[in-house]
Amino acid sequence: MNEQRCIYCQGHLELRLVNRLQRYQDRWVMIENLPALVCIQCGEHYYTPQTHDLVVTLITGQPQPERTELVKIYDAAQVTSATESNPSTVKEFIA
Ligand SMILES: [Zn+2]
Repeated sequence: MNEQRCIYCQGHLELRLVNRLQRYQDRWVMIENLPALVCIQCGEHYYTPQTHDLVVTLITGQPQPERTELVKIYDAAQVTSATESNPSTVKEFIA
């Protein structure tokens, strides 16, 4: 039914339910069980316009969140010693 391919690696896309972390009004919100096309090779997520509309409806609209959780936020930039001592390792990791 769907012959779309990943624009990055040309991998097959599969319809899955994913969790999406979204920034909204300076706060993080999590949307669970969001339909997405996921590349089975590299994991890239693709969303349809309908799914995008659904995200907007969920975070700006009437439905109350399913639940609220406290989330620990870490800042990797505050822990720079590892990256400063061996930047080439970091470059490989990112690539
Ligand atoms: Zn891919």
